[in-house]
Amino acid sequence: MMSSCEKCWQESRFVDSYHELLESRKDSPCTPEEQAGPNASECPKCKRMTLHQHTRECMNGCRIGENERSDRQAGKEGVKHG
Ligand SMILES: [Zn+2]
Ligand SMILES: [Zn+2]
Repeated sequence: MMSSCEKCWQESRFVDSYHELLESRKDSPCTPEEQAGPNASECPKCKRMTLHQHTRECMNGCRIGENERSDRQAGKEGVKHG
């Protein structure tokens, strides 16, 4: 599921509908950085500021799934005695 474009979302406050805004911009789409928003984070894969500020989805199209979380698994159970 693609995240909303932050830039268009912000600007849609001044128009009637977000979808209308998207329609009018079909020919000049926003960059992944613009879509990710002003508070975006750097994508660990493409090294661009394209991680969406709300959904943490890379707007540049990288797949960052649950199985590729950067944070390590914590709280592993201790080794049991054999
Ligand atoms: Zn946009
Ligand atoms: Zn990326």
